[in-house]
Amino acid sequence: MQDKRSGKIVVVSHCILNVHSLEDNLATYPGLEEEVVELLIKKGAGIFQIPCPEIELSGIFRKAMPKESYEHPKIRNVYRKLADTIAHTLSLYTKKEYKISAVIGAEGSPTCGIDLIGRWKENIRGKKEFPRDIEFVPGRGVFMEEFKTSLDRINVYPQWIGIPGKSIRSLKPGAFEDTLNKLNKLL
Ligand code: SF4
Repeated sequence: MQDKRSGKIVVVSHCILNVHSLEDNLATYPGLEEEVVELLIKKGAGIFQIPCPEIELSGIFRKAMPKESYEHPKIRNVYRKLADTIAHTLSLYTKKEYKISAVIGAEGSPTCGIDLIGRWKENIRGKKEFPRDIEFVPGRGVFMEEFKTSLDRINVYPQWIGIPGKSIRSLKPGAFEDTLNKLNKLL
């Protein structure tokens, strides 16, 4: 039987394939990001799932927080180790000339955002609440920053795509569709 593999690997944030890693009230699918996975199947990409960095760090009962809460040297250290471990595994695939085509993160996440992260709005009085007091601004999640450094070190330069989550989709209708179109063109 002929070997049919495409040689194309896409690295995804954990919640793309398992929404149960998300904080409460953030899942928009029962199990996984269906349209993203359908597209990856159509494109013949192998899928490499990153463990959820926030679960590794703070477990399953954590609350949704902005990037400021994760911007800490100890957290960076945990994320850097995870990023290096994954980069090492990916470097084994590249030895066989497989291409790491893209990294698909979760847009807006303080950990896995690619082009947008959430931060507290300025001048909030009293107790801050998520998502009411959050705004999304250009930036990369803490884990993805470390992951980029780890991939640069092994000379892997994928496309970086952030899938808009529930909060961004409600603020920017059309953002999800635009991202799927972008991904479709890139792969
Ligand atoms: S965005 Fe990243 S940290 Fe958040 S649930 Fe998904 S994999 Fe975990």
